[in-house]
Amino acid sequence: MSLKQLYSIPKELLSIDVASLHTLVPEPTLFHLPGKHKRPLFISVLLHGNETTGFLALQKLLIKYDQQELPRALSFYLGNTEAASQGLRRLEQQPDFNRIWPGTETPPNSETAIAQVIVTIMAEKKVFASIDVHNNTGLNPHYACITKLDDQFLQLANLFGRLVVYFTRPKGVQCGAFAELCPAVTLECGKPGHPHGVDHAFNYLNSCLHLSSLANHTVPQQDIDIYHTVAQVKINPDITFSFDNSSADLLLDKSIEKINFTEIAKGTSLGYVLDQTNMPISAINEKGEWVTNKFFTINNNHLQLKTNTMPSMLTLDEKVIKQDCLCYLMEKIKL
Ligand SMILES: [Zn+2]
Repeated sequence: MSLKQLYSIPKELLSIDVASLHTLVPEPTLFHLPGKHKRPLFISVLLHGNETTGFLALQKLLIKYDQQELPRALSFYLGNTEAASQGLRRLEQQPDFNRIWPGTETPPNSETAIAQVIVTIMAEKKVFASIDVHNNTGLNPHYACITKLDDQFLQLANLFGRLVVYFTRPKGVQCGAFAELCPAVTLECGKPGHPHGVDHAFNYLNSCLHLSSLANHTVPQQDIDIYHTVAQVKINPDITFSFDNSSADLLLDKSIEKINFTEIAKGTSLGYVLDQTNMPISAINEKGEWVTNKFFTINNNHLQLKTNTMPSMLTLDEKVIKQDCLCYLMEKIKL
């Protein structure tokens, strides 16, 4: 499989629905459209096939500029259209399309090769800024993620909203690869299917197209809340878990997604553990170190937090928990 490049868009792209997109764009395709400013804005959507907000926002943008010149050149990539045709994050045999970018820890395969080619092409085009649009499955506010605490990155993130998450793990994410070339953000636009998320992403993308440059000064402290990911939490592969079956090794609390982005106190329980002696989860910090004992303990069969923390990405979607993780733990940082 190789990467195809197109310099105009098929008309159908303006009206096609996400599920049918694969019939129009079946192979990895990088689109380039000209604009007034020559250095292109790069947008990727559907790296996770079930996260449709980015595509719908991009489609709105393409409709808006169908008959008029773009304020800035635009390059975009439509990610995993095959998984999108089935409404899935990824197909069983596929890698995660947001873990394959340069810097990845997954062994080379055809997907990592395509991601590398896209980054090389965009480097040659002196990409202006990069935006990767996502949704999440749990109840989360909208926020932008960055992998560098740099003024221009913070400016770009702050344009989306006051909530910003700084992370350096997992590796192989799109915004981490583009951070080596230009200011780069990942947008998290809440759950898919909400028109408000599409409007927010569309307005943001349109604003970015109109930027002539990104300011180099610091974002005022009162305009921004920055959190740093301190651990990614996964359920161990040999553990059965459920939200309603009490014979599972780990019975998770059904209200967990309500504590996303709230400060929770130590002692808070995330669920019930059948075997007290067997810690069912693993927390890995940004250096890749196992830090489970720093954050979790089992007390009277309850899986409890050992420190005050702020979780994100907690979801009730069991498939996502298996394919991605249970949650992230964060702490606030001051610049
Ligand atoms: Zn995603």
